[in-house]
Amino acid sequence: MIAFFKKLLGFKYRLAILVPYRDREAHLAEFIPYMKEFLPKRHPNLIFQIYIIEQTPEKLFNRGKLMNIGYTIAKENCDYICFHDVDMLPEDSSCNYSYSSHPTQLATYLDRWGYREVLGSWVVQKSYWGGVTIIPNDCYQIANGFSNDYWGWGPEDKDLHDRCIKQGLTFKRRLGRYRCLDHKRTDKASPSVRKNADLLQTRLHGDICKEGLSNLEYTVLEEKTLEPDVFFITVDL
Ligand code: UDP
Ligand code: MN
Repeated sequence: MIAFFKKLLGFKYRLAILVPYRDREAHLAEFIPYMKEFLPKRHPNLIFQIYIIEQTPEKLFNRGKLMNIGYTIAKENCDYICFHDVDMLPEDSSCNYSYSSHPTQLATYLDRWGYREVLGSWVVQKSYWGGVTIIPNDCYQIANGFSNDYWGWGPEDKDLHDRCIKQGLTFKRRLGRYRCLDHKRTDKASPSVRKNADLLQTRLHGDICKEGLSNLEYTVLEEKTLEPDVFFITVDL
């Protein structure tokens, strides 16, 4: 309802695109100019900034924690955020980055899956919540953000999905078509992947929202402005 009146009054929502990042230079070199051209063309009135959040090399990659850090840094300058993998490029106007008052999946049709609808491996519900998603600040806050505890590839995205459900939030899906840049695939049988799957199961039976934004700790090592409204921030987790 509030969103409706805001729209009526011409309120302009500000978007922060948060990109989890480490050691994908070729992808980043393609991603930034592509998005800087795509977004104004498809959404002439969109107010957006891009934050690349880089993790240092020592530990296993932690996408969820990086996104919590990105949100904490960007939140005063935005009304909603987009978690955007660096290797996913929107193809056409099916990719809609405008404001949604719900957690919303954007990357639903991927070229690497032959544009079949991505439902996630939890096919029962349409619970895929990865790749490119948007969420308003207030919903992200209610969910207590991502978990900080998934180190290495793993279901941090499913965990956030379930946090949102637990808090009574409803999901939306937009039917965006995306091109995926190629990279070496994670070994899904690795110990860290299995450990993360177990962690999700444990969380589902406990208080899934208990850690996240509320206990986030990190150090910013470097902040650079790559070009107007594109920031590159290196953090130590
Ligand atoms: N990522 C990264 N470096 C890594 C691992 C992941 O930059 O070593 C970021 C990047 O934005 C990537 C996203 O996290 O698109 C998701 O990871 P990945 O592409 O490995 O997952 P998948 O393709 O299996 O969803
Ligand atoms: Mn990928």
